[in-house]
Amino acid sequence: MTQKERKHYRPMNSMQAPRFTGVRTFMRLPCLETLEDIDVAVVGIPTDSAVSYRSGARFGPEAIRSASILLRDFNPALDVNVTDVLSMVDYGDAPVVPGYHEETLERVQAYLEPIYRAGVVPLILGGDHSLTMAELRALAKVRGPVSVIHIDAHGDVLDTYYGVKHFHGTVFRRAVEEGLVDPATSVQIGMRGSVHPSDVGAAQKLGYTVVTWDKLADMTPEELGALVRAKVQDRPVAVSFDIDFLDPAYAPGTGTPEPGGPSSYQAFRYLRALGPLNYCSFDCVEVAPHYDPSGATSITASVVCFELLSLLALRRQSERLAAAAGPGAQEIHADEKAIAL
Ligand code: MN
Ligand code: MN
Repeated sequence: MTQKERKHYRPMNSMQAPRFTGVRTFMRLPCLETLEDIDVAVVGIPTDSAVSYRSGARFGPEAIRSASILLRDFNPALDVNVTDVLSMVDYGDAPVVPGYHEETLERVQAYLEPIYRAGVVPLILGGDHSLTMAELRALAKVRGPVSVIHIDAHGDVLDTYYGVKHFHGTVFRRAVEEGLVDPATSVQIGMRGSVHPSDVGAAQKLGYTVVTWDKLADMTPEELGALVRAKVQDRPVAVSFDIDFLDPAYAPGTGTPEPGGPSSYQAFRYLRALGPLNYCSFDCVEVAPHYDPSGATSITASVVCFELLSLLALRRQSERLAAAAGPGAQEIHADEKAIAL
């Protein structure tokens, strides 16, 4: 019996229909709630019920989608055609209940679980960082504890806010406590700024490797890539990208801005240097577009998403090449295809 040909979902062709036309979906992908024949499901999680300071990230998914219509297919820096390699759909928005954070987490977890079970990688558009809790709970149910690459100006490892356990700044502590992530094979990147005294050294005590922005600023992207690959190796890994990793000069549209950080260009270089790891989940969170009338934050977030997709495309491309070479062919490991930048 011949195998059914796999469908391939890709963005609308901008040489046939101008970029500003059509219903707004991520990258002008088809809006389709399917898990068949796809590598990536783009999912919006429009919630900001768990922020401690400025709200507004509930409008993040919509703004990133609108900004993403300018994204094109090919990533010259990584030499990969993202939309040729990856079949992708805009899967829609997860169910949320404004003001009811823990209820939202439960509903979002139930919504995400089938995506992981289908072996599809979600690209999650946030939403405040608390949504990563639902992401990691769903993911751990399917894959067990995973490694995390957490890129953020903040460690998000506080114990409580106002006596409450679930906030956007507690996620990476709760995730360890619940056994969702393996901190020994996870890396936190970019932390800076003033902190609560209880925050000093907290992430390291939980077992995370922390590359503060002060350290990172003195490293080359290649050095960061090597450090992360040595920790994560070929384990299933989720990348969680808080847009406030960037200096607010580049991304002011966020709830908890932290001056003195990297430029957009530096952020893209660091991302590219991660190479083709065993990615199983992506999120880009904390985009609160109304604090940035220029729209630059959302545009930048859309490019962050594109760089993440590019890394997955590299990975899938290597896997398919290895599969095509047949059994006995050398397995391709992330380390062997370190990216020269
Ligand atoms: Mn965060
Ligand atoms: Mn942050």
